[in-house]
Amino acid sequence: MSYLFPTYARWEVEPETAEGSIMIGKDGKRYLDFTSGIGVCSLGHRPKNVQDAISKQLDKFWHVSNLFIQSEQETAAKLLTEGAGMDLVFFANSGAEANEGAIKLARKATGRDKIITFVNSFHGRTFATMAATGQDKIKTGFGPMLEKFVYLPFNDTKALQEEIDQNTAAVMLEVVQGEGGLYPAEQEFLNSIQQLCKENGALFIIDEVQTGIGRTGKPFAFQHYQLTPDIVTSAKALGNGLPIGAVIGRKALEDVFGPGSHGSTFGGNPVSVAAAIETMKTIFNEEFLASVEQKSQYLSKKLAENLESLAEVTTIRGLGMMIGIETTIELPILLKKLREKGLLALPAGQNTLRLLPPLTVTEEEMDEAVEILHMVLKEF
Ligand code: PLP
Repeated sequence: MSYLFPTYARWEVEPETAEGSIMIGKDGKRYLDFTSGIGVCSLGHRPKNVQDAISKQLDKFWHVSNLFIQSEQETAAKLLTEGAGMDLVFFANSGAEANEGAIKLARKATGRDKIITFVNSFHGRTFATMAATGQDKIKTGFGPMLEKFVYLPFNDTKALQEEIDQNTAAVMLEVVQGEGGLYPAEQEFLNSIQQLCKENGALFIIDEVQTGIGRTGKPFAFQHYQLTPDIVTSAKALGNGLPIGAVIGRKALEDVFGPGSHGSTFGGNPVSVAAAIETMKTIFNEEFLASVEQKSQYLSKKLAENLESLAEVTTIRGLGMMIGIETTIELPILLKKLREKGLLALPAGQNTLRLLPPLTVTEEEMDEAVEILHMVLKEF
């Protein structure tokens, strides 16, 4: 009997230890971890510099509340705003909470209520972010949703032109839809969103919870497309495993969130912030980001060479180290077979296998993963 609500279809693996790209199960089995805790441990498991920063903070204080000045929050916010080319940060604890903050910020800033999001999007599990999510299965059974969310087809500029109006507070999207199936947005579509937001006085929100913090080879994925969003959200990899999320905004929004208007007891927790500072210092570095780009090219090429010709593989798509392999095989069966052979991978949408390897992964580890994928896919 379990004392936990059965909210997760758990795998048969129980981790004992993990380091870098490798996880060791309680039964001693070795796994190549290409899930990174669902896009969280981008520097691998327990990177020494982040662990040292956490230990150092643990010896000072763990929590004091946001009534106190915490200069480390300023350091983290400076790194984050420099990385994004933006101005101000609110720290939360998770992706959903960051998106919740972004939605509140957009509504208060504009005095409008309509938020446009897209089919197959995923923005979180709280009431506002569940309402923002363009997937019915996430909402079933939870009663009336928060109102004034509109879902449009992804990459459809015409639909947006018809929907956006003077009551639109914001348009919100992931530049690569992660949970929904690894669907990248098109440059032209993104340009149109930005333009239409400007023309209609709506804010442009980019959810970088999964795509951000170096995952695609730039600090944030929107930077591949030369965009200037008004609000960007971050979480997942920001603390490399310690819980932290962030709303990043432009200076023009500074007065919207005055004292008492928004807050979080744990938001910007000192231990999580210590992890985030060290994580960003490592990832927001030209050489590191260039290595991510190189690795993603290497892995994409290897995957194409070894898998594209297989009948079970429909397409391979993605951006940087966020890769989707669309397949005709039932995902739970495929993922279990991969685990048996020592590779941990994820599902995305209905029929896409998702790889989110640590950005520190080695060529040998990528070769091994491709070999396992080839062997398992070929067997079907
Ligand atoms: N936004 C995106 C794009 C995500 O991928 C996720 C989680 O998968 C979330 C928001 C929600 O983040 P969290 O689970 O930290 O609340």
